[in-house]
Amino acid sequence: MGFDSTDDMANADVVVLNTCVVRQSAEDTATGVLGRLGKRTKGNDDRMIAVMGCMVGPEQKELKRRFPYVDVWARPQEFEPILETAGMRHGLDPEGCLAGAVPENPNVASFIPIVHGCDKFCTFCIIPYRRGRENSRSSADIVHEAEMMVARGVKEITLLGQNVDSYGHDIRPRIDLADLFEMVHEINGLERIRFMTSHPNDMSLRIIEAIRDLPKVCEMVNLPFQAGDDTMLANMRRGYTIGQFLDKIAQIKDVIPNVTLTTDLIVGFSGETDEQFECSMDVLRAVEFSKVHTSEYSNREGTFASRKMTDDVPRAVKKARKVAVDEFQQIVQGKNNDLLVGTQFDVLVEGLKRGRVHGRSRGDKLIYIDAPVTRDDRVPEPQPGETVRVEITDSSPWSLESELVSSQTTATVNKEKVPVV
Ligand code: SF4
Repeated sequence: MGFDSTDDMANADVVVLNTCVVRQSAEDTATGVLGRLGKRTKGNDDRMIAVMGCMVGPEQKELKRRFPYVDVWARPQEFEPILETAGMRHGLDPEGCLAGAVPENPNVASFIPIVHGCDKFCTFCIIPYRRGRENSRSSADIVHEAEMMVARGVKEITLLGQNVDSYGHDIRPRIDLADLFEMVHEINGLERIRFMTSHPNDMSLRIIEAIRDLPKVCEMVNLPFQAGDDTMLANMRRGYTIGQFLDKIAQIKDVIPNVTLTTDLIVGFSGETDEQFECSMDVLRAVEFSKVHTSEYSNREGTFASRKMTDDVPRAVKKARKVAVDEFQQIVQGKNNDLLVGTQFDVLVEGLKRGRVHGRSRGDKLIYIDAPVTRDDRVPEPQPGETVRVEITDSSPWSLESELVSSQTTATVNKEKVPVV
């Protein structure tokens, strides 16, 4: 629309506060910023303030009462009201501006939300209340966005959803995530497809087989189990037993050779005993996930757990349980990464991290590359967006060191032959 960005919020004509409220602390931060914005806008009628994201639920009456100076409340991905209001304020025509929502210089590895909201209602989670029921975007819309991203240099796309496996159940004629994989797979120039986050009950065999069969889909699955004890799982209303979860893991391993598995785990949920926590550790020992995203349970106002259960596990106990998980994972990841020294892999170069060239393997391992430096000594090679072959020279539990073996022009992969990290 012709606006320039500024780092100076006090002097901005348009302020858009994008919010995440999965945790109470994130919501508190957002309301704190809003409070400060309210003070700054006193006497400045021209400034437009928009709030978007998860904080804006279907019911906005209370938000409007608390923050009357906010001009636009926009739900996640609801860009139009922001553009329209900004256009009216400043005499600009927003027509055609939405296509520009794809950044001009996106990261080579970028994300596309494909389904918003969630129908699962886990007792600890605020998402279904704030983001509403599952709402799948049309496949045409998603493919169009992906094509635009690829035209702007994106090589890897992660398809996002709170429950990505349920994509398409609300679309007629019905399609699923496997169908969408196939459509996105057709885009020339795109090298990798990832997806997040899965739910064990919705990860169908059809989806698992599509991961195996489509070369661009990385053979990597993030499958949260959240707790290793059946009573805890029932209290969380996850909808499966730990036996069913482990059966799903076995099925995935059986169908997809060299699959990389990661997971999410909550420690210290209401009433979790030491024995029940040990059940979670048993699952970690049995599966040896490549990565575990561990959260200490914290009460989230508005959830079923907040209303009906007691957050009774002491903070120190939650912390100790998280440390136990982290220490175990450090050993597992260190051991498994050590085995990779001397092997070769394809890495999609993403850019510089701590001054060094880095990229990711198909299994999402962070890999640093020792590469030649160009003549001006500032721009290391290889460049972001290139897929190169490297040999692993050293390892730690969190990342791998490598040397460049060769630049590669194609990332097409025969999944039967190429080991995955
Ligand atoms: S499936 Fe995920 S997003 Fe949905 S309610 Fe459960 S934890 Fe929340």
